[in-house]
Amino acid sequence: MPYNNQSILFAQGAMKRARTYDGPLDGVVNDAMVTALTKITEIKKSWPASRKVVAYLQKSAGLKGDDIDGLWGDQTEQAYNAMVQRRLFGEPEPVWRPESRVEVNPNNWPTQRTDAGLNAYYGAVGTNQKKLVPPYEHFLSWDPGKRVSSLSCNTKVYDSLGRVLADVLATYGAAEIKRLHLDQFGGSLNVRKMRGGDRYSMHSWGIALDYDPMNNQLKWGADKAAFARPEYAPWWECWEKEGWLSLGRARNFDWMHVQAAKL
Ligand SMILES: [Zn+2]
Repeated sequence: MPYNNQSILFAQGAMKRARTYDGPLDGVVNDAMVTALTKITEIKKSWPASRKVVAYLQKSAGLKGDDIDGLWGDQTEQAYNAMVQRRLFGEPEPVWRPESRVEVNPNNWPTQRTDAGLNAYYGAVGTNQKKLVPPYEHFLSWDPGKRVSSLSCNTKVYDSLGRVLADVLATYGAAEIKRLHLDQFGGSLNVRKMRGGDRYSMHSWGIALDYDPMNNQLKWGADKAAFARPEYAPWWECWEKEGWLSLGRARNFDWMHVQAAKL
């Protein structure tokens, strides 16, 4: 997430709290901001406005010396995300420790062990579906800008899915949902066999959803998948308290995927 309206907005908020800026909070760079930024020692007067803002974010995020260069790289990305996390949740980032999580199952989701067991609980593949209108906008991940008006899901998961998404909205808010790609929908109901197997995919019952597949590719582990990062821990907690299972959190692959079936 490089330099954009969200990070400019964050800078404006931080400057306002530091009483060095009194202009609008609109995510658009303006003269008052640039004038204030130019007074900061580490920020070179010759830099363009965008570089000044990035340098300010680097400094605010705790980077020092030559690391305050106004250029957005991996280090800046990580420091920035950690800073946003602290601001959002007022606590140090949670560390990913799968063994420390207690798995709950308030809706009594079945296990995924047999197709027969899943058919018995959810009905035959592709049946027993209901359309859920999500509480915040969803977009097709593979067709940017295309809105998804409703998500097809099994009637048995409908209420729970609604609660999860409402919880996500309350936890992150619309702007963070957008920034973190939690609105990038990769699909739910899809009757198909699992890759290289005879079993049906959990998507066949409408009990699995994929999000932001581009940044959470099937074979990627926690070192690469976006959803393994600390700022997504609250996202997973929204699902897990309803008993949903993340393959990424449980098995460290397919981080895009979440399902209403236990392993
Ligand atoms: Zn999936």
